[in-house]
Amino acid sequence: MTETADVVIIGSGIVGSSVAYHLAHAGCTNVLVIEREAHQGKGSTGKSMGGVRAQFSTPVNIQMSKYSIDFFAKFDDVVGHPADYRAHGYLFCATNENHLAYLKANRERQNALGVTNVEWVTPEDIVKMVPQLRVDDILGGTFCPTDGFVDPHSVMMGFMLNAREHGVRLWLDTKVTGINVDAGSADVSSASARRSLAEENDSALAGKAEPFRLSGRQSRIAGVQTTRGLISTRVVVNAAGAWAAEVAKMAGAELPVEPLRRQLVPTEPFDRLPQRFPMVIDMSTGFHFRREGKGILLAWNDPEETPGFKTEFDPTFIEKILTRAASRVPVLAEAEVNPRRAWAGLYEMTPDHHAIIGPAPNVEGLYFVNGFSGHGVMHSPASGRVAADLILHGRSELIEAQQLNVERFTDGRLLEETAIL
Ligand SMILES: Cc1cc2nc3c(=O)[nH]c(=O)nc-3n(C[C@H](O)[C@H](O)[C@H](O)COP(=O)(O)OP(=O)(O)OC[C@H]3O[C@@H](n4cnc5c(N)ncnc54)[C@H](O)[C@@H]3O)c2cc1C
Repeated sequence: MTETADVVIIGSGIVGSSVAYHLAHAGCTNVLVIEREAHQGKGSTGKSMGGVRAQFSTPVNIQMSKYSIDFFAKFDDVVGHPADYRAHGYLFCATNENHLAYLKANRERQNALGVTNVEWVTPEDIVKMVPQLRVDDILGGTFCPTDGFVDPHSVMMGFMLNAREHGVRLWLDTKVTGINVDAGSADVSSASARRSLAEENDSALAGKAEPFRLSGRQSRIAGVQTTRGLISTRVVVNAAGAWAAEVAKMAGAELPVEPLRRQLVPTEPFDRLPQRFPMVIDMSTGFHFRREGKGILLAWNDPEETPGFKTEFDPTFIEKILTRAASRVPVLAEAEVNPRRAWAGLYEMTPDHHAIIGPAPNVEGLYFVNGFSGHGVMHSPASGRVAADLILHGRSELIEAQQLNVERFTDGRLLEETAIL
């Protein structure tokens, strides 16, 4: 017998899990999540640094962060599982006037959008937070005390466990191999299609109609082929992380998301830095670091990295990052590093480094929640909420969701975020 679901989510990382949670909490529980791995978290979620911050430059990223950080602060109570949110802050350190002007403009925007706790800090303030930092070339910076870290694995598991408690099903060890579409129902404009879907679903949720019917567009989702057989559904959520473009292609849709390797280096236990200090960002190089247990976690975005599914750690990266680390924090020259404990994972990059959230323009019933470009953990609460809103109601009160739709790349509405870590 063919399995059926109102919504099939492809990918059970932190994003797919959040979408499942938010759908279930909006009353849509006939949801099936498909994961090809035997365990959750084997994609980018399990490789993440776990940083969360509201210190962004574009309004949409600031809004997504604000919702998400507020959510992380109450996660344990609301979701019933721990997120391990630690509000240790993010400290941006500026070394030239351009950096200062950039931080000032960002802070004004953040303040206007309700993030009112970003503080200006002087080199003296910075030394108080991290006495070992070299500040001779630092002009100042910003510090937001509610930025910090979460445990990505715990957040993902919390979302999924809660969703499953509400009836969502999860199939592990099951690969999606194809997506079936019905060709050519009436091609109505996407705006009117979304409006009528929203109206139908609003009344469906109030018990007045068949749930989740969609209006006609170019082609229409009919089902999902998996290694465990066919699933009949009208709604598919692409939450396949760095592999999202190939999943989109299965339905005949284009998605500008490409994988980019990102590498992290933990030190062995190191007590020459404070037990508690913020994520520190050296704006002169992009090097940043935070405490992770007894050691320090070192991160740097290598500008020479090229796109591709490269998940092997490159040992030559260690020297590159240690040079930057020792230059900003001289005591780190004494830290020991075991290359076997370093790791690499994939960012899911879009051309403007913002997520793509919304319906596919040419495949009715296909939704993208992809391309987080390094922010998928911190934005997982907001992206799950916005995706669920769009699927069920065609709009979201959280953000003006149209700014994140995939049509922005063909319409020339690209967003510009320069605070990428
Ligand atoms: C080194 C590193 C550090 C990072 N640091 C941060 C950070 O500090 N803060 C932050 O917010 N973000 C960070 N990120 C980014 C963040 O980890 C990602 O944006 C986020 O995890 C994306 O989640 P996801 O659920 O979309 O993808 P994933 O976790 O990759 O999940 C996608 C899932 O889809 C499954 N899948 C794919 N194709 C199929 C198929 N055909 N059938 C079935 N299943 C399929 C995969 O197996 C996978 O489990 C970091 C990333 C890396 C690599």
